[in-house]
Amino acid sequence: MTAIGSRLPRGTRVVVATRNPGKVGEFRRLLGASGWEVLGLDALPGGADAAWDEDADSYLANAAIKARAAVAATGVVVLADDSGLELDACGGWPGVRSARWLGPDASDADRVEAVRARVAGLAPGQRGAAFVCALALAAPGPGGQPALLETVESRVRGLLLAAPRGAAGFGYDPLFVPEGHTTTMAELAPLAKDRLSHRGRAVAALLQRLASG
Ligand code: IMP
Repeated sequence: MTAIGSRLPRGTRVVVATRNPGKVGEFRRLLGASGWEVLGLDALPGGADAAWDEDADSYLANAAIKARAAVAATGVVVLADDSGLELDACGGWPGVRSARWLGPDASDADRVEAVRARVAGLAPGQRGAAFVCALALAAPGPGGQPALLETVESRVRGLLLAAPRGAAGFGYDPLFVPEGHTTTMAELAPLAKDRLSHRGRAVAALLQRLASG
């Protein structure tokens, strides 16, 4: 038995199905203990052509869509992630649409500014939020069809600020203060974010499940 179980031993080539450089960097760090060879989508023939529509209404379903599309394109094991920010006072908005709600041409900076403006209109006691991360692990199954191996979903609670702080991380990190902390995700050192983030928790749960299965 290896560190993460017999299904995906050390040295297994695993493609991360994202074109978000911030996420690729986090996955490389988070999966260091797995001993897997972690590659970006564009590192394999076919990876650059992988395409999908993230149009499902749950994080898990979107992660599975990405994982299956990337397995079909690359023919190797794939880890896909779908994540989002949920504001309590807005019924969980923007949620699964966190990457798309402002339109296809909006940048991270545009989305941060638009959420910041929304938060500024909320009383300080109404600024509770969560980051959510769903992971789907998939591999070529019998006949080469993509087969889902595992899915997990994790979250971290926190508060949103009406003024961004910090330059590390990516996306909405400068607005999000994790519960029990005074700094934003973007003010934390990368390894500190990994220890408490929705993605860090999801990867830990996935590796634990693989190790025990
Ligand atoms: P998706 O999972 O690629 O659909 O991204 C969802 C949206 O949430 C994007 O706008 C990301 O920038 C943002 N997002 C996802 N994970 C994080 C994170 O760890 N910190 C800050 N923003 C994130």
